[in-house]
Amino acid sequence: MTRPIRAVIHTDALAANYAHIKACAPGSKVFAVVKANAYGHGLANMVTALPHADAFAILEMPSALSLRALGVKQPILLLEGVFSAAELQLCAKHDFWLSVHDECGMGWLENTDLSSPVHVFLKLNTGMNRLGFPAEQAPLLVERLKQCSHVASITLMAHFATADDPGQGVAAQRARFDAACHGLQLPVSLANSAALLAYPETQQQWVRPGIALYGSSPFSEKSAAELGLQAAMTLSAEVISVQELKVGETVGYGAGFVAVRPMRIGIVACGYADGYPRHAPTGTPVLVDGVRSCLIGRVSMDMLAVDLSDLPASGLASQVELWGKNLPIDEVALAADTIGYELMCAIAARVPVFVE
Ligand code: PLP
Repeated sequence: MTRPIRAVIHTDALAANYAHIKACAPGSKVFAVVKANAYGHGLANMVTALPHADAFAILEMPSALSLRALGVKQPILLLEGVFSAAELQLCAKHDFWLSVHDECGMGWLENTDLSSPVHVFLKLNTGMNRLGFPAEQAPLLVERLKQCSHVASITLMAHFATADDPGQGVAAQRARFDAACHGLQLPVSLANSAALLAYPETQQQWVRPGIALYGSSPFSEKSAAELGLQAAMTLSAEVISVQELKVGETVGYGAGFVAVRPMRIGIVACGYADGYPRHAPTGTPVLVDGVRSCLIGRVSMDMLAVDLSDLPASGLASQVELWGKNLPIDEVALAADTIGYELMCAIAARVPVFVE
């Protein structure tokens, strides 16, 4: 008997979310963003779930090589580009597409002899102020890239800072991009999940959804279900001990939770070393045998406590869903003052993963 915790990856949900995104962006090709081990869902599972994805986008070279080793034939884009001329050679060798976001990357492209041509995404900063050349430099940079004999194609790329927000941020970034790039007549990639869903005009030739693929909402005001998305990961664990509390007794480290009535609590085989957020407060929702209850007291490394007081049929070996098909990860994230992205990515290697 292994420790009773598991993450189940729902490949049917991943496929359905991908199809939904394709339907929402009918004129665009889709990069399935699979950085951070596919937001915790596993690269291999994504490759299984999306055999016909238009393309994949990943962060770094080792993961790109893993995707090729998994048999991926589609384009693979390196979102942060390369970190050396040697990595640029690997792009040519394995046909990885790369983003170029600074002079260092431009220098490698201009001064390295490559065995095969490479496809380049020119990353422009339109206000995110993370990676990218100032958008106004686009015409000059495009000219330089056109002079590189081994640059097979150029796509213009930018990233939105506030696409999850109904404010003016996206319009401002769009305006800066359009002012700099009009007339260049090159393919464009701008939209992440939030942008492609909330600002369809940003879809252009390539969209780059991550979070929506995994069935979490990028918006605080709209649930994944309202967006037509399905949870792709269920994290669950069993009750491994039951405690009866008298009034005044406390639970766990810090003794911060004090019973104000007689209570029955279940100790669940999931803690922060499994990826459950330590700062989730008392009251964070859980499902015990399919019935809603809540977290009690402080999450410890390997265990957490849930309230069973009103669940007479539940006890030892009861199944507790921490998030997933029946309990949206976004609800848990909200209670724990974080985002679904962070919860998914934090799933620990020690959690056994099953694929459905
Ligand atoms: N494009 C880039 C450059 C990113 O860094 C990310 C993720 O952070 C994405 C696309 C996907 O974003 P999201 O998961 O919000 O759809």
